[in-house]
Order: sequence, then structure tokens, then C-alpha cells
Amino acid sequence: MTPVAMAPGKTTLAGRRRPVILAASLLAAGAVVLRAAVAVVPKVGDIAPHTEEFLKNDADAKKEDPVAYAKRTLLECDAVAFDVDSTVVVTEGIDLLAKCFNVGKEVAALTTAAMNGGVKFQDAMRDRLNLMAANNMTRKSLEECIKTEGKPVYSKGVLEFVKRLHARGVHVYLVSGGFRNMILPIAKDMNIPEDRVYANTILFKNDGSYKGFDQSAPTSRDGGKPKALKTIAKKGGYKTMIMVGDGATDLQARPPAKVFIGYGGVTVREKVKAGADWFVMGFNEVLNVLPKSK
Ligand SMILES: [Mg+2]
Repeated sequence: MTPVAMAPGKTTLAGRRRPVILAASLLAAGAVVLRAAVAVVPKVGDIAPHTEEFLKNDADAKKEDPVAYAKRTLLECDAVAFDVDSTVVVTEGIDLLAKCFNVGKEVAALTTAAMNGGVKFQDAMRDRLNLMAANNMTRKSLEECIKTEGKPVYSKGVLEFVKRLHARGVHVYLVSGGFRNMILPIAKDMNIPEDRVYANTILFKNDGSYKGFDQSAPTSRDGGKPKALKTIAKKGGYKTMIMVGDGATDLQARPPAKVFIGYGGVTVREKVKAGADWFVMGFNEVLNVLPKSK
């Protein structure tokens, strides 16, 4: 093709468009690079980053900041699962039980060892229950203990949180590594049906002496919470679930949960804070987002 002859200082239409197209291409390329950088590099400050795995799995999450995404999801979700110890209530159930059998310090040491890693959840559970059994834990003494020590002290705002979820038609679950006999009264207070409680069962022999714990419950093993949520999603046919909790095992439940709300009102764990989509220090922060039930 013969080049178009041009007078000095003049450009053809195509010539004028070229720099515009070039600039637009550069801008688009820049945006792609920027988007990639935002997705991979965690933001510092009060916005907790999504995990890379989560970003890979959820296209929506890439478009907005994690806190905004979590708030929007809270208004759209069909099920919310709560951890219980140090989340719904301000205590750790096993510590309360250990106190009854005068092995508080020993059980706390085993809990710390488990939290520092190297001990499987199921092994830590077995050791702690064995220790209590060796110190007079029977069906009867455990029931007495739950009556005296097990009275739940709720985190501020959590009952209203669940009430508002229920009013919106959202199904609420309790998913805990703690014990069912301590959690059922809590579920009752919150109007949560028993079949929405996933927790562990302590087993006793016919004579009332300690036998062990139900090892078929997903919550009795490492990786139990994601497994429990998978079952819940399948049974309930839920599309959008949220997990709320204070611990690393709660954070593991996303996925299958779309969003993880970290709760730091009792204990702040840095790993959990860093991994949460939205980390709250009190449930009032959540109530500010969730409309009041009529
Ligand atoms: Mg907890």
C-alpha cells in the first residue's frame, strides 16, 4: 500500500486515532496488572485479605474489598454457622468441665499444646477426656457439672444477631468442637432446632462410667468444620453460607462457606484476623449492617 502523503503538521484520521488506541491499550493493560496486583498482594491495615485459594474460587470476591463483600453476602446468605466457644459464649466449654474435675491446669496445658500444632484434634480431645475420666468424670457427675458450671454467658449482641437472621428466614447452625450436652441448652435459648447442632458426644457405659467419644462426628477430627459445613450445604441445599468464629478451625470452613466473619470479642488470634473477610470486635458491628427485625 502506498503511504498517504501528508502535509507537515497534519495527520490522517487513522494517524490521529493511533495514539488514542495506544493510550487506551496501555490503560487497559495497566488495569489488568493493577487488578492482578490487588488480588495477590494482601492489603495492609484494617481490611483483611482473602486467601489466594478463595480468590481463585470466587470471581465476585475479586471485584470488591473483602469487608464490603462480606457485608453484602450477609444480606444475601441463606445459612449462617456459628462456632460456640469464645464466639457465641465467652467461655471454652472444656475449661468449664475441667474445673469441675480439678484438672483445669492440666487440661489447659493440653489445649495449648494442641493449639501450638503437632497434636491432632482427636488426640487432644482423647487426652483431655481421659484426664477428666481419671478424675471422677461419670455420666452423673458430668450432668451435675453442666448444671453448675455450664450456664452460658453470651457474647454481647449474639442473641439479637441470630434473632435477626431467623426473622430474615436464614437458617442458623451451631458447629462446635465442644460437647453436645453443653450446646443443646444454648441452641434452645437461640431457637435453633437440635438437628442444626453439629458437635461432639461424650459416650458412657451402662454403669455410667466414661467410654469415649463419638468419633464418627465430623467435628471430632482435624478438618471437621469444613466437612460439617459441606454436609450442611448438601442437606439444606444452601447456596450462600457464612461461618462466624474465633478460631483457626473456623477459618478453615471457608470454603465451603463463602464468607468467614472473624470474631475477636473474647480472644484475638492474629492468624484468624489476617485470614478473615471481615474481622469484628463485637457483634454490634454486624447489627449495624443487618436490618432490625420487625
Ligand atoms: Mg471458638
